Amino acid sequence: MAFEFFCSSCGETHHGMPAFGAEAPLDYYLVPPEERPARVRFGADDCVIDGTKFFVLGCIELAVHGEREPFTWGVWVSLGEASYRQWLATYADEKRAHVGPFFGWLSVELKPYADTMNLKTNVHLRDHGARPIIALEPTDHPLAVEQRDGISVQRVAELFSRMVHEA
Ligand SMILES: [Zn+2]
Repeated sequence: MAFEFFCSSCGETHHGMPAFGAEAPLDYYLVPPEERPARVRFGADDCVIDGTKFFVLGCIELAVHGEREPFTWGVWVSLGEASYRQWLATYADEKRAHVGPFFGWLSVELKPYADTMNLKTNVHLRDHGARPIIALEPTDHPLAVEQRDGISVQRVAELFSRMVHEA
């Protein structure tokens, strides 16, 4: 049976495992809008600012207790230039899970958590075009705890409500 959950915010049952993400790295929003065309270059899965700051898209997956499918945060991480060059060189490769992992700084604020900007991560490439898995440093930050321990279906409903009903 497909995943569904009851949402006490709107009193309805929502269908499908939710996934949310940020459209751009947080650093992007620090560039004045009129300067973005000249300073920012977006690819499908990457973003380069001033030719010196390198960001790639990845997934923070939270296991959901009793469910097969994880809850996913689509996030940006900042890579060092050497890591980014490797990321780029293997981007189209069918097999690239053996490359890395790379160190990365989280470059996103996720509304349900405090201070996610610049959390330390490891970026694990995946095969067959899947976006990398972003593994947070195992600290006591609530997001890191949720990645380590997984979350309940009730917590999925709570995250959904924060992201969708409290926009
Ligand atoms: Zn709802």
